[in-house]
Amino acid sequence: MTEEHRTLVLLVEDNAVNAELAKTLLERDGFDVLHAATAEAALRAAKDSRPDLILMDLQLPDADGLSVVSRLRADPALAQPAIIALTAYAMTGDEARALGAGCDGYIAKPFDTRSFTARIRDILAARRS
Ligand code: MN
Repeated sequence: MTEEHRTLVLLVEDNAVNAELAKTLLERDGFDVLHAATAEAALRAAKDSRPDLILMDLQLPDADGLSVVSRLRADPALAQPAIIALTAYAMTGDEARALGAGCDGYIAKPFDTRSFTARIRDILAARRS
């Protein structure tokens, strides 16, 4: 008999309102969620908890989120999780920057609560195919 594997998500977001909303949406859809509000906490949690997926806010109080992505991708022990960028910027080029840094996809803020987890599952499915 095999245990059902629940997807462990490391949610890296310093805005408390966005973090609470994303956590609620993820847990409602069956994901397990860990939260980090700084780049330093995110790096520690990625190492200690080995999440399946990291949702990475690009604007953190102590670092640019993409620099954290680059550090994760450069570490062979931590390079495997799916990473999705979260950004308030609707700027042209931001998605390319996120993908270039090693993200598997990109979700713009404010979150569309109706499609948030479906979008995450689409990105995870595309990554596996
Ligand atoms: Mn932020």
